[in-house]
Amino acid sequence: MESMENLFGSNVFNDAEMMRHLPKDTYRALRKTIEEGRRLDPAIAGVVAHAMKDWAISRGVTHYTHWFQPMTGITAEKHDAFIAPLPGGRVIESFSGSELVRGESDASSFPSGGLRSTFEARGYTAWDPTSYAFIKDNVLCIPTAFCSYGGEALDKKTPLLRSMDALSAQAVRVLRLFGRETARVVPTVGPEQEYFLIDRKLYEKRLDLVMTGRTLFGSKPPKGQELNDHYYGAIKPRVQAFMKDLNEELWRLGVLAKTEHNEAAPAQHEMAPIYAVVNVSADHNQLTMEIMKKVAERHGLVCLLAEKPFAGVNGSGKHNNWSMTTSAGDNLLEPGDSPYDSAQFLLFLVAVIRAVDEYQDLLRVSVASAGNDHRLGANEAPPAIISIFLGDELTAILQALESGEAYEGHGRQEMTVGVHALPKFPRDNTDRNRTSPFAFTGNKFEFRSLGASDSIADCNVALNAAVAESLRVYADELEAAEDFTSALHDLIVREIRAHRRIIFNGNGYSPEWVAEAEKRGLHNLRTTADAAPCLLEEKNIELFRRHRIYTPAEVHARYEILLEGYCKVLNIEAETALTMAKREILPAAMRYSGKLARDAAAIKSYAPALSARPEEKLLEEIAEEAALFSDRIDQLRQAVTAIPAAADVLTRACYMRDSVLPAMAALRRSADALETEVAREDWPFPTYADLLFQI
Ligand code: ADP
Ligand code: MG
Repeated sequence: MESMENLFGSNVFNDAEMMRHLPKDTYRALRKTIEEGRRLDPAIAGVVAHAMKDWAISRGVTHYTHWFQPMTGITAEKHDAFIAPLPGGRVIESFSGSELVRGESDASSFPSGGLRSTFEARGYTAWDPTSYAFIKDNVLCIPTAFCSYGGEALDKKTPLLRSMDALSAQAVRVLRLFGRETARVVPTVGPEQEYFLIDRKLYEKRLDLVMTGRTLFGSKPPKGQELNDHYYGAIKPRVQAFMKDLNEELWRLGVLAKTEHNEAAPAQHEMAPIYAVVNVSADHNQLTMEIMKKVAERHGLVCLLAEKPFAGVNGSGKHNNWSMTTSAGDNLLEPGDSPYDSAQFLLFLVAVIRAVDEYQDLLRVSVASAGNDHRLGANEAPPAIISIFLGDELTAILQALESGEAYEGHGRQEMTVGVHALPKFPRDNTDRNRTSPFAFTGNKFEFRSLGASDSIADCNVALNAAVAESLRVYADELEAAEDFTSALHDLIVREIRAHRRIIFNGNGYSPEWVAEAEKRGLHNLRTTADAAPCLLEEKNIELFRRHRIYTPAEVHARYEILLEGYCKVLNIEAETALTMAKREILPAAMRYSGKLARDAAAIKSYAPALSARPEEKLLEEIAEEAALFSDRIDQLRQAVTAIPAAADVLTRACYMRDSVLPAMAALRRSADALETEVAREDWPFPTYADLLFQI
């Protein structure tokens, strides 16, 4: 391997490259744009484009692309060569400032949720200079936001950038009240990414994996994850080779890939990068998912990012570690050493508590997808109920503040905001409840409900927006206060009281919590179809409108796209299940029962006194199960045929949830029962034991 110094960021037009390739004043102007999170001045764009092009060409690059993140949740790119014609049939390599800053895209095939009619199908992409350009497969990729000509966001990046501005504006106001000036406050995120690796040849034999990324059939193998022998276990050589390649590719792209380990389920792994500013982190996570798939292919493997590729073992999620940092690099969720710092910490802490309580529905819907519905609440991932884990010590401190009673943690201490420094609580203690969807882990919050394939943009838009709103309310109130310290104390106490229902330190997997959460009035939005309608609630539309993150029309578009996507995914799954059932599983069962019948008859005709009981018993069982299976094929077919195609999207989504999904589940039960009875050699595709253990 090359030295890390040479390797890391070698495919990125990063700060060091900018400094090397740009004239000093252009570099300074660009830095200022980046630091202040503003848009690029067209006057310097040409100079930057020229330098970027020369840098890219010197590395063998021939094309550039505006790399963007449409509402499909994955990334999109269209390559253009760096050529412009010259007289005499020659060409010159060219790339102008306007080509860098703004691109046009006839992107009528991307989902727009009705924001763009086809007669005005053009959209445009605009460079986000806070995320560095990079080289991928000999193409210069320019991270961009994607909007319609009317200015409506058609992607996941634009609202993320807007939510960062909103959060920054309000956080700067609050910090000013504490006498702290900062140009900007940025949300930082470290996303931990789970995934499965399986053998490519086995994968190719399963239509469900190829079509849907997850298995729709498969009986439980003799061994699952019950021995806990995979989690943090020694990494197999083939997986190790994959990880080595993955790391190198990610490092070249400037992704701070840091931690790798085996996860709970067999064939499941995790990669965690060091955190970055959230828009960069979102870009890097998209790249990570893409590169994981590509590198896996080179190793004869397939990387599965579906939320629930296998029943009976854990699915894959993503943990969104989130905090806020000032321009000086101070983490606002780091408990302070002095009473003054503690007061500031407490204010930001209650801002998050309020945000999560008031907008639990938005956080839930931000991670909603057909795939993730299989995980949340299935005792392997947090429940669908959103709550906050603070740990005993911090909870006790808040209780003491709320009640005005003494805090008994480290000696008796009266708690008054602005007077006492918080006791130093051991960070480790705060991270052990893995059942909580939203856990404070010492100096950041970890939102654990994301699905493995999610873009992290959606949940961070919701989180940034909700926290911006808390901070706005607080700043309004505190700016008007006569005595800041006592107003601050009263506000914090009031907020703890108002929002303590969202704090839950117990076991989120227990049935008691479901009952308790209901008593507390918390949402329990179990599926995407349940969660999506809350997007349209007035308070949520107002939140996004007020902070200029989404217009009401943009919210509606996202609601449509979410539910439309849910219906489509379930429809594809149902059709795939039907195809496999009819063309592979049922024929296998019939073939095998035919064999059994012939064998039994042969035995009997050889010598009538001989017993054919094993054949007959098995034949009877299979015949019965196969008959049930065949009926269930018909029932699923009927359910799919009866999809109310003309109905509105919510009606269709509810129908998919209530009619199609249960019919798929019933079909699967029969198929999995057949799998345990049909001979190994007659089963038409690889089993769970093959997929999970043959690597
Ligand atoms: P674990 O969750 O396994 O205990 P860590 O707590 O070390 O692991 O970190 C998990 C993730 O949180 C890493 O991606 C790390 O970079 C990220 N992280 C650490 N500090 C911050 C922060 N201030 N803001 C956002 N993410 C952070
Ligand atoms: Mg974690």
